Parts: sequence; C-alpha cells; structure tokens
Amino acid sequence: MVPDLPALVDEIATTMQAMEDRGQVASYIPELAKVDPAQFGIAIATADGRLLVGGDADTGFSIQSISKVFALTLALGKVGDQLWDRVGREPSGNAFNSIVQLEQEQGIPRNPFINAGAIVVSDVNLGGHQPRVAIGEMLRFVRYLAGDDAIAINEEVAASETATGFRNMALANYMRAFGNVRHPVDLVLGSYFHQCAIEMNCRQLALAGRYLMLDGRHPDGGRVVSPGRARRINALMLTCGHYDASGDFAFRVGIPGKSGVGGGILAIVPGRASIAVWSPGLNENGNSQLGTQALELLARRTGWSVFSPPDAR
Ligand code: GLN
Repeated sequence: MVPDLPALVDEIATTMQAMEDRGQVASYIPELAKVDPAQFGIAIATADGRLLVGGDADTGFSIQSISKVFALTLALGKVGDQLWDRVGREPSGNAFNSIVQLEQEQGIPRNPFINAGAIVVSDVNLGGHQPRVAIGEMLRFVRYLAGDDAIAINEEVAASETATGFRNMALANYMRAFGNVRHPVDLVLGSYFHQCAIEMNCRQLALAGRYLMLDGRHPDGGRVVSPGRARRINALMLTCGHYDASGDFAFRVGIPGKSGVGGGILAIVPGRASIAVWSPGLNENGNSQLGTQALELLARRTGWSVFSPPDAR
C-alpha cells in the first residue's frame, strides 16, 4: 500500500485540530502547565528522504521523557550490555514516576524508560563528570541526529522541574541507598532535568529518530548504533515506551513509540518512517491524547505496523 502521505498528513492535522476533548496539560511541572492545549503538530521523515509536516510542526515543545531514548542510546554506547546489570527490560505496569517496585526489586528499575530507570541511565551518562559535560554531550548528540544546531534546552522548564521534582528526588535517593545511583543525587538529577527540558519541534524530532528506522544508520551514511542495538531500542519503545499504557499503544497503533509529558510522541516504523506528533493535552496515563489518536489513524490508513508482513506496509 502506498498512501498519499501529504494528503494524509493534512487530513490528520485538520482532524486533530478540530477535536474538542484534548486531555489535560501536565500540571506537576509548573512551566508545562502554561502551554496552550489547542495545538497539534505532526512530522514524518520517510526512509526515502522525504519530510512531511502538518499543523504546528514548527512549534517547539519540551521533549521530556522522549529524551530517554537518546539517553539510553548514549549509555549503551558507553557501557554496552553492562547497563542491564543496573536496569531491567520489562514493562513496569506502573505509572512513569512510581516508586513501589523499587523496594521489592532492590533498587533495580524495571526499564530505562520509567523515571527511575532513566535516572540510572543519567547516572551512567554522567561518568564522573559535571552535569554540564553530560548535558553538552546529549545536546550535541540530538543536534547531530536531527542535523540541526538550533536545538536547545529550555532553562525555565529545567528550573521549574528542579524546584518541584520531589518524586524524582525520592526515586534517586532511594536508588542511591541501594548503590544503584553512584553520583551525588543533585548532580544526577541536574543532568536528568536538563535532558528532559530539551526543546524540539516535530520536524526536528522526526529527523532525530531516523537512525531507529534505518537499522542504526544516520541518513548521512554514518553509523549511530549497530542494527541489533537499534532493534532492541525499538523493542523497548514498543514494550515500555508508554508506561502502563504500553500494551494499549501496541494494540491500537502497533509500532514502537516513546511519549513525554510535554505531549510529544516519537514513533518508529522500521524501514519506513520516523514520526513525531505533539499535542500538549495528556490522557490519564500521561501520554498525549491526540498524539496517540493521530498515530492510530496514521497506522490504520497506511497499514504501517510491526505486526504485519513487510509487503503489507
Ligand atoms: N521530566 C519528567 C519527570 O521526570 C518526565 C516524565 C515524562 O515525560 N513522562 O517527571
């Protein structure tokens, strides 16, 4: 099936812009609570080099937990499979900021995409340096992936979360007690909050995700990760990328995706497309309400799914 993608992107943007039930903007990070919910953007970077955009695709938003995909990629580059001694690879079945499993599982978070797991990944990426070194490395990495040096951190969002991130402080301190956070907690969280506060628009995010549709290759010909590693990151996005709604996302959309409380979702159709959608209103699981609906519609119309034979997509 070869869909008319430009027409479909327009249709999805128009449909989503007209929706009345848009979910609730995240309010626990005060800076995010200020974002106007009446926005929707979509961008699709295709494997054959096209970039299709619709709606508010040029408006920047806080990528929040989508940064966990890029942070995981960097951490695997630093310590390889040793990372899995400190972080699991199972869906948590709990909220993104849950603390309950950590006690039973001795400070080893279920996966790198819940907050606890991402904090361990930040600890790994710090590697004995100051947060500004790790943050600089992360920013250079996403700029390289997207081919866009304008990508920056929103310092107000980082400060807002630093001032109010008590749950994350609890998670980090708790894991430090188990020895699974090794740097001082304020340094680890400084790095984590800044990574979450990276601001990108849909266009930049879809471009940054291309290596995951291209079996680990950067479109300029360089290699970001091995094919096996790209597949495993996609597998984790599918099984853990939407927290306790990951099963529902796989059922409804059927492609790997990673959401953030800023309302963005990065979704990957291996061999086909890297897709970014954004709408700030969240559903009860903290995932973009219209972003999820938009991806569901896109997958239905295109036939894109990791569960269908390649010739059907
Ligand atoms: N920075 C946010 C937090 O740690 C990220 C959560 C998310 O996007 N789901 O709470």
